[in-house]
Amino acid sequence: MRPLYSEQQEMLAATVREFAANELAPKAAEVDENEQFPWEQMKGLAGLGLTGLTIDEEYGGSGGEYRDMMAVQEEVAAACGTTSTVLITHVSLGSQTINQFGSPEQKQRWLPSLASGEKIAAFALTEPQTGSDALGLSTTLTEDGDDYILNGTKLFITNGGVADIFSIFVNQDRAAGYRGISAIVVEKGTSGFTVNPQHGKMGMRGCETAELVFENCRVPKANLLGEPGGGYRIALKILDSSRIMIAAQCVGLAKGALDAAVSYAQQRKAFGSVIGKKQAVQFMLADMATELDAARLLTFRAASLYDAGMPHGKEAAMAKVYASEAAGRIASKALQIHGGVGYFRPSVVERIYRDQRVTEIYEGTSEIQRLVISRDLLGDLPD
Ligand SMILES: Cc1cc2nc3c(=O)[nH]c(=O)nc-3n(C[C@H](O)[C@H](O)[C@H](O)COP(=O)(O)OP(=O)(O)OC[C@H]3O[C@@H](n4cnc5c(N)ncnc54)[C@H](O)[C@@H]3O)c2cc1C
Repeated sequence: MRPLYSEQQEMLAATVREFAANELAPKAAEVDENEQFPWEQMKGLAGLGLTGLTIDEEYGGSGGEYRDMMAVQEEVAAACGTTSTVLITHVSLGSQTINQFGSPEQKQRWLPSLASGEKIAAFALTEPQTGSDALGLSTTLTEDGDDYILNGTKLFITNGGVADIFSIFVNQDRAAGYRGISAIVVEKGTSGFTVNPQHGKMGMRGCETAELVFENCRVPKANLLGEPGGGYRIALKILDSSRIMIAAQCVGLAKGALDAAVSYAQQRKAFGSVIGKKQAVQFMLADMATELDAARLLTFRAASLYDAGMPHGKEAAMAKVYASEAAGRIASKALQIHGGVGYFRPSVVERIYRDQRVTEIYEGTSEIQRLVISRDLLGDLPD
């Protein structure tokens, strides 16, 4: 029991924990080893209403708050990192972009099938030549009658290989700076749109990461999200909130590693007693538990601010940078406590150790989070 969450959130977490123990954890090694997209796992989550959590009920979602999703992500990520990344990308990035910035018609068109899990969403900002610097996008969008024509390439797109509905960020007018960036929805199968799977990731291996190529891809103007030139604001707003879910994912990964380490320390014997009796191991576990709680508290604060409609950008960045790096330290210590066994597949801690690493990179690297935090502290400095 964690007094942080409401009774309702604890009940939700308990339901997801049971689902994760039965349906996610037993398949996590296979998902990782075979780079297997977790279709069955996503169907199960959809059955629990979780592919529509935080999405407006009016458009087929389950409603709910980011604190509810945090409780869910913690349990999902503790059991299977890949499934957690797929769910975050589907709900907090892809679907939320439409939920928050789509017109009523666009929401009616796309959200019900996303919320039910029948269709999968993706969010495409990164390009081969630009990741952190979102102003440097070179994918273009030009007008042609009632349509737009897209040209360019997106890279490292999670869910890309299987998604049906993509929110794509493009540059409509380079000279206009951030006001030149727009967001548009492209559906799978649109002529001129090719998806190339990217294999060989270190962790989160079942996420169907892909390169997206647009060659004179014709998309109706009705697919534009928000105003022309409003895309930069959309991307920043969505990343500000989705980062809270990455932080929650890190809390889950850290919890998975700590649970495995505690259980191993209670059983493994060395020099005549279980290793949990050695003070060096006890202190590692104590530090891991303390860092895990600190990460959870920072994440909960950011989610609470978001749910209250209050500014949360700095707090989301703090939660993401701290939780991701703490999860790295916790996973490393958990592996250390396992000794040689922890270094071999299919050890749970070996997988978490690899899965954690990308959390310091995607949705803004640790350096970018520190930029967000320090800019908030310092304001605009004179040259
Ligand atoms: C597995 C995976 C899944 C991903 N999924 C998605 C997705 O679904 N959608 C999507 O759009 N993108 C996705 N990405 C892309 C991800 O968001 C980018 O990789 C990330 O933002 C970093 O961009 P980059 O790789 O171009 O690195 P760069 O921006 O080239 O950065 C390289 C290094 O320089 C540092 N750096 C850059 N600028 C600064 C600065 N101003 N100050 C200090 N340091 C700086 C960075 O922190 C980093 O250490 C994914 C990436 C991975 C690996």
